[in-house]
This record gives sequence, C-alpha cells and structure tokens, in this order.
Amino acid sequence: MNKETAKDILDTIKNEYVSNPKPELDFNNNFELLCAVMLSAQTTDKRVNEVTKELFKKYPTPQILSNADITDVINIIKSIGLANNKAKNIINLSNKLVNDYNSIVPNTIEELTKLPGVGRKTANVVLGLGFNIPSMPVDTHIYRMSVRFKFIKEDDSVITAEEKLKKYIPKNRWIEAHHLLLLFGRYHCKSQNPLCKECKLKKFCIKK
Ligand code: SF4
Repeated sequence: MNKETAKDILDTIKNEYVSNPKPELDFNNNFELLCAVMLSAQTTDKRVNEVTKELFKKYPTPQILSNADITDVINIIKSIGLANNKAKNIINLSNKLVNDYNSIVPNTIEELTKLPGVGRKTANVVLGLGFNIPSMPVDTHIYRMSVRFKFIKEDDSVITAEEKLKKYIPKNRWIEAHHLLLLFGRYHCKSQNPLCKECKLKKFCIKK
C-alpha cells in the first residue's frame, strides 16, 4: 500500500459506486447522533432510523432521556435487537451528559470514550459527523475493506487499522474515506457474496 494507491482506490469507489458519500443514520444534533450510533450496533441504519423517530420525539434531550422509564425505552427500540443493553446505555449516557457535561456532547475522543457504552468507533463517528473533526472510525465494513485492499493484514488490530488508514489517506479525506469504504463494503463488497464479477476495484484487491 502507498498513498497513491489509496487515492486510486478512494477515487474509483467515488466515481463508480458511491457518488454521494453521506451518513445513512438520521440525526438533528450531536446528542441524537451519539444515541443513533450506539443503537446501530448489529443492526442496519434503516432500522435504527425507524425507531429513533419516535425515541427522539419523546426523549429529545439528555435531561429528558435521563429520566426515562427504561421499560418504555426498551419498548420503543425493541425491533433493533439488544434493546435491554442499548436502552440502559443511552439512559446512563444521558445521565452522565447531564451530570458531568452540562448536557453537551464532548468533542474529544478522551471525553467521549468516558461515556457509558461509548467505544472508540462510536467516538470517532461522532467526532467526524458531529464536529467535522477528521477521524477514522473502523467498523466491521471498514476493517473488511482494509484487509481486501491490503491497507492492513488480516490479524491487525482495529487500532492498527485506524493508524494505517490514517497514514495512507490524507487527513482532509478521512471523513469522506470512512463513508466511501463503509458504503462500498455495505452494498458491493459484502462480507458474504461480494459482487466481484463486475468489480472495478479488482486490481487492488486480495481476491483478484
Ligand atoms: S473484487 Fe470482490 S472482494 Fe475485491 S473489492 Fe471487488 S467486490 Fe470486493
């Protein structure tokens, strides 16, 4: 891998597959973004959007969500799976925001990862999408793409993947690169049955 190849990969994805590299989760502010990303674990953004409409209407602020009845929150989000844990996390997170952050979502990875249930990937997504701070979240799609395009080795850790992607991709493209790799992985280079036959990125890929 080198910077020129990384650029070719991103440009090809953009020109051929993902002309509009934007997030698919719906949110109106950083609190909603943070909750939506936490709810998106092991489900699709589409399903999250279906439940957050009602959730954010009923519980629009950290203050209000921190006082929610957990059974009601579980009931609203039950269709997305892991509802008990997810409800507990977003209520605890709201409590922490109210008590320690004046109900404002912090804008550093150190502070974000102190919030209940917030890992490095979620924090990086919030930094990039919420604050427009260059970041490189590595989720399952980005990791798979990084292996297939030889940014990383198959046994590299997620942190190593983040570091290597940041090394090869210029900082001003990190947020865009996240969307490009994620959406290409989600819809074309899927985990099972990737659409290899007509793929225009074959020459960069370990599966060529
Ligand atoms: S050739 Fe297949 S595995 Fe490789 S990037 Fe294209 S779709 Fe993905």
